[in-house]
Amino acid sequence: MTIIRGAITIKQDEKEEIQSAVKELLEEIVSANNLKREEILSIVFSSTSDIHSYYPAKAAREAGFESSSLFSAMEPEINGGLKLCIRVMLFIERNLKAHPVYLRDAKALRKDLTQKINIAIDGPSGSGKSTVAKRLAKDYDILYLDTGAMYRACALKAIQSGVNVEDERNIFNLMQSIDLAIEYQNGSQITLLDGNDVSTEIRQPHISMAASTVSKLPCVRQKMVEKQREIAKKMSCVLDGRDIGTVVLPDAEFKFFLTASPEVRAKRRFDELTAKGYSVDYETIKTEIIQRDIQDTSREISPLKQAEDAILIDSSQMSVEAVITAIKSKLQEKI
Ligand code: C5P
Repeated sequence: MTIIRGAITIKQDEKEEIQSAVKELLEEIVSANNLKREEILSIVFSSTSDIHSYYPAKAAREAGFESSSLFSAMEPEINGGLKLCIRVMLFIERNLKAHPVYLRDAKALRKDLTQKINIAIDGPSGSGKSTVAKRLAKDYDILYLDTGAMYRACALKAIQSGVNVEDERNIFNLMQSIDLAIEYQNGSQITLLDGNDVSTEIRQPHISMAASTVSKLPCVRQKMVEKQREIAKKMSCVLDGRDIGTVVLPDAEFKFFLTASPEVRAKRRFDELTAKGYSVDYETIKTEIIQRDIQDTSREISPLKQAEDAILIDSSQMSVEAVITAIKSKLQEKI
């Protein structure tokens, strides 16, 4: 059994407002959790005491939630609590990782009910972003969004289609119809391109440079940033990339910029690829890392850059555990 929470605020206590808010909230929860409507056993609503005009349960039935049992209740007034807020709990028979959804002002829910947070981790390749981001996501039970994987998938799409990654006009056309989806299975991100799981394929060494080249193009960035914002808006997540704190989520609650010397980063990438069975050369990797740094920091749009309000962590001399501890202590000051 899984229980998924959500909440939304309305502007006025009016029937139509309640109907549309309930519909929007339930549809967002269904989409964020990949649910089928038939598997929702029961939906329980509670609204703040300033909502009288309509039963959210009735609005849910009208929005097509036919097979679930429904119930609405009214909450007592809480000093300093949110106004005009509809909260919901969905009961699902199977076990899944629940992604709560908070819309409009409801993201400012009381802490005991959950607080939506976005953690942005930017930095150059090999700085340890993904290792740290994955661990934070696991420890805080929130989503990890690997934005680099999305640019890698764009590069793979170009290569599969026989399009040069610098050919802006043809890449633009590819971007109009690209079928790229991100899903989560047992807490791991699965990157789907045209319905196929390409999570392993996009890690091939030759895709790294191609991703860096294709990600310079405005048509690619625009499309990916849109998708990233959509995901981050719905749920708490930790995102790693190059432009998360500066462009994708400039208002993120937490921003970190992780870096390390090129030598240390090259060694980490070398070890990682060797462990995966690739036969690679340290010097080649180092040259490529430096080349990618230059390309990523000097591009015109959304270059790799530390956001002014990001906390800088140089992990050259730090273990993964030490970096995680440093980040957690910053998070705990605010959460
Ligand atoms: O992080 P990863 O090495 O998987 O990223 C591959 C490439 O995708 C990077 O070199 C960078 O050019 C690009 N990228 C980006 N913006 C992001 C994430 C990755 O431009 N947010």
